[in-house]
Amino acid sequence: MDYLPIFLDVKGKRCLVIGGGDVAFRKTTLLIQAGALVTIVSPDLSADFASLAGVTHIAERYRASCLDGHTLVIAATDEQETNELVSTDAKQRNIPVNVVDNPALCSFIVPSILDRSPVVVAFSSGGASPVLIRMLRGKLETMIPQAYSKLALFSARFRALVKANITHPPKRRIFWENVFEGPIAEKIFSDDEAGAETMLHAMIESEKQGNPNAVGEVFLVGAGPGDPDLLTFKALRLMQKADVVLYDNLVSKPILEMTRRDAERIFVGKMRGNHTLPQEGINDLLVRLALEGKRVLRLKGGDPFIFGRGGEEIEKLAAHKINFQVVPGITAASGVSTYAGIPLTHRDYAQSCVFVTGHLKDDSMDLDWEMLARPKQTIVVYMGLQGLEMLCAKLIQHGLPADTPAAIVQQGTTPQQRVVSGNLASLPKNPEVKTLHAPTLIIIGGVVSLREKLAWFKPSP
Ligand code: SAH
Repeated sequence: MDYLPIFLDVKGKRCLVIGGGDVAFRKTTLLIQAGALVTIVSPDLSADFASLAGVTHIAERYRASCLDGHTLVIAATDEQETNELVSTDAKQRNIPVNVVDNPALCSFIVPSILDRSPVVVAFSSGGASPVLIRMLRGKLETMIPQAYSKLALFSARFRALVKANITHPPKRRIFWENVFEGPIAEKIFSDDEAGAETMLHAMIESEKQGNPNAVGEVFLVGAGPGDPDLLTFKALRLMQKADVVLYDNLVSKPILEMTRRDAERIFVGKMRGNHTLPQEGINDLLVRLALEGKRVLRLKGGDPFIFGRGGEEIEKLAAHKINFQVVPGITAASGVSTYAGIPLTHRDYAQSCVFVTGHLKDDSMDLDWEMLARPKQTIVVYMGLQGLEMLCAKLIQHGLPADTPAAIVQQGTTPQQRVVSGNLASLPKNPEVKTLHAPTLIIIGGVVSLREKLAWFKPSP
C-alpha cells in the first residue's frame, strides 16, 4: 500500500488553499463541506467563489508566512514554482500538503469520493489509474443509493437504544444486518421514517422475547422488456437481495441471471392456454414464502402495473399485512417501440397514445373501437397477435384508413428482435406474420412510418 487511508476531521480548523481558479474552487468546496474554515491566497479569484460563504480571501501572492496557523494546505496554482515552494515550506513545518495533480510534491493525496454522508467511501489508485477509479466509483454509485445517507442517520439515532436492549454483541450485529437488509431499510428508502421506527421498536421487542422469527417481504419488480440494460437501479438492487425469485416467461434469461446466485428460482410462467400456476396460486405462494420470513422477488416482464396483474398480487399481500414494494419497469410499449425506431408520439403523426390488450376472450375482443379509431393517435396492442385479423378489420370498419401504418415487433429489445411492418390491410395477410411467436407487440399509427428513418437497433444475426 503506497498511502495510508485516513479521514481527517477539519471541522472548525483553518485550512489554506493557494490559487483562485476552477481547481482551487473545487478543493475549497470540498473543504467547506467537511466544515473547514478556508483561507484562500491568490491575487485573483474566479467568479465561482462568490457563491461560497465564510471563505477568507487574501488577495496576495503566496509567502511562507501564509502557512502560519493552518492545519492543512492545498496548492492549486498553475505555477510550478509556487506549487514547489508551498510543498517545501509546508513539509518543513510538518503541515500536511497536497499539490493538485503532482503526487511527488504531496504529503497526502485527496481520494475520489462517493458521498452518502455520514457514509463516505474514498477511492484512490495513488495516481496509477484515475479512469479505472472513476469507473469503480460509478459502479458503486449505482449500488449505494442516495438514501443510504438516511439509513445511516436512522441507525445512529437508535444505536444506543439497540445496544441497551440487545446486549449480546453477535446478536446485535445480526440485528443490525437484518435492519439494513430488510424491510426497515426499504421503509427508509421509500421515505417512510415513521414506519421504519415502528418496525424497529417491534423488532427490538420480538428480539427481547427471544422470537426473532420476522416476517419477510415481497418485491414486485418490473424487469423491462428484455434487454438487461433497461433495468432500473432499484430493480437490480432488490434482485440481488432476494432469497427467492418467482419469474415468468417474459423475464429474459440474462436478467434472471442477475438475481442473487444462491437465490431459489421458481418458474410461475404463463404460456397461452397453458398456465403453469394459476394467478391465485402465485398470490398464495407469495404470501406463504413471505410468512416463512423470506425476501421474495416477484419478477415481471415490463412494468408490473401494465397488463401485469401486479395489483392483484399486492392486494393479497396487503390483506396479510406483508410488507411489499413495487418497482416500475420499462413497459414493452416504451422499450420495444424505441428499439424498433418508432416514437410513440410525434408532432406530425400522433398527439396521443393508447395501450390496450388484444387478448381474445371467447374469440372476441372487447375494446372501445370508436375511441381507438381516432385520428392522430398511436395504438399499442399487447398480447394481440392471435387477434390481429379481427383487430385490423375492426379498426378499418370504425374509420381508420386501410393504409394506416402498422408493425409487429417480436422479442423487442433483445438480440432476437424481429419487425414485420405494413398497414392495417396488408399486415394480416403477410405470410411472415405466421412465423412470429410471443411475445409480440403491435404498433399502429402514422408514427410507424418513421421506422425506416429512425431504427438504430441492429439485432445480431
Ligand atoms: N407488464 C408487461 C406486459 C405484460 S403482457 C409490460 O409492461 O410490458 C405481455 C405482453 O407484453 C406480450 O404478449 C407482448 O404483447 C408484450 N411484450 C412484453 N415484452 C415484449 C417484448 N420484449 N417484445 C414484444 N412484446 C413484448
